[in-house]
Amino acid sequence: MLFLGVPNKLEGQTQAPTRRRLSQSQEDYVKALYHLGAATALVSTSQLAERLQVSAASATEMLGKLAALDLVSHDRYRGASLTATGESVALQIVRHHRLLEMYLSQKLGYGWDEVHDEAELLEHVISERMEQRIYEVLGKPEVDCHGDPIPTLQGQVPQAAHRSLLAVGVGERLRVRRVSDRDPDKLRALEHLGLRLDVQVEVLRESVYEGPIEVRVGGRRRQVPLGIARVVFVG
Ligand SMILES: [Zn+2]
Repeated sequence: MLFLGVPNKLEGQTQAPTRRRLSQSQEDYVKALYHLGAATALVSTSQLAERLQVSAASATEMLGKLAALDLVSHDRYRGASLTATGESVALQIVRHHRLLEMYLSQKLGYGWDEVHDEAELLEHVISERMEQRIYEVLGKPEVDCHGDPIPTLQGQVPQAAHRSLLAVGVGERLRVRRVSDRDPDKLRALEHLGLRLDVQVEVLRESVYEGPIEVRVGGRRRQVPLGIARVVFVG
């Protein structure tokens, strides 16, 4: 597991004041840019607008505001990316989100299909102090209930190279390491198929003409639709 260093202008300082000035919507934009790969690549306004389900005009306007706050560098024609400060803010929000998901599932009995929407709301309002308490009460976890890495306070994100279940060949036996948290219906389908974190899965038959793949999981043969296999990552 390698750690990707992240330039962090705020390191060593109290990080909260930067975020306290931001609205929920501004934080959502920063986080969306992070998830769309803004740390390494430029994100187009249309990509961002699609992810956040807003108009291109709204996205352009917000990018201007975030650029004025030194969170984003934005070129109208080439696209937008996070500055070091913007990335630091994004990682704080992602850390909140993933710790909250873990807390809701481990301590409050939520299903893994229920936690994402709650965390989307709560991530904007909990204090750094509460985040620290949650982290400690959970035993300082490195990943959340979907297998997503929890950024450290210093802004490091452990990266593991897991493959999509779609890319696995017949006969390979691997373990489920991560699933996408964005679609509750797909998470319920995964649960139903027994595809939980850390279970072993063996591919028995690859997809033919876009049909489902067949796997063995928990001693049973299961048909997994491609749209479901796509959100499962194994290693
Ligand atoms: Zn989530």
